[in-house]
Amino acid sequence: VPGVAEARVLLTAEKPSRRIVAIASGKGGVGKSTVAANIAVALARMGRKVGLVDADIYGPSQPRLFDAHDRPDAKDKIMFPVPTRWGVPILSMGQLIEPGKAIAWRGPMAAGALSQLVDAHWGDTELLILDLPPGTGDVQLTMIQKHRPVGAIIVSTPQDLALIDATRAIDLFFKADIPIIGLIENMSGYACPHCGEISDPFGQGGAETEAQALGLPFLGRIPLARAIRTASDAGTPPAFGDDADAQPFHAIARALDA
Ligand code: ADP
Repeated sequence: VPGVAEARVLLTAEKPSRRIVAIASGKGGVGKSTVAANIAVALARMGRKVGLVDADIYGPSQPRLFDAHDRPDAKDKIMFPVPTRWGVPILSMGQLIEPGKAIAWRGPMAAGALSQLVDAHWGDTELLILDLPPGTGDVQLTMIQKHRPVGAIIVSTPQDLALIDATRAIDLFFKADIPIIGLIENMSGYACPHCGEISDPFGQGGAETEAQALGLPFLGRIPLARAIRTASDAGTPPAFGDDADAQPFHAIARALDA
């Protein structure tokens, strides 16, 4: 299985054209969107031209994470990504629908609408982070078959159930012949907001063990930290800063772009 080494080559190739990296998870609530946003911000801080497409039709959270709710401009029906203060332009279904309205599209329609976000005016963007909906349904499969990401990053929590789901997500990419760049364990241990000590209410290392068993690269772990949630809720991605909560994201970005 091609791993992170290959992804590095892809990211640092001389003549950049738009490359897509998919961020996936087996189920919702594992922090996939948070991780996608902060990896994008961390890579942008390293000088990469990174854009992000929020393809999570069921719960588009990137407009909130980036504090970028404006409707994108368009010319001849092709959209322009919405710039953000964090150096990462984004496009999200959440910018196109009215807040609070449910989206009840069937698979093909959803995939069609999402494709317009990918086929937008991304200009000189080198790397497009594609935040996929959680799970392994039709929309996910159509998106990866149509847009052929150069690789996929799987986000999981340490719990077994999340891992069983994560294995399904991995399988989806295997079947579509998309290399897995690696696994990230999120909510891995609890970071005490007072002393910074990491404790492990759910156990730790499940994703790393799973990565080893599957022969896939392990990209790193991100602790459950109150500051990550509060900064995210406030629309200020923690990876934009330099404090302790930003470090795990920076380490993963460095691993991807070494
Ligand atoms: P998903 O995209 O997998 O559904 P989200 O990224 O929306 O998950 O995260 C779900 C919730 O968990 C959000 O409230 C988010 O702020 C919070 N969260 C995600 N990762 C962390 C973390 N490492 N520490 C603290 N809170 C987190």
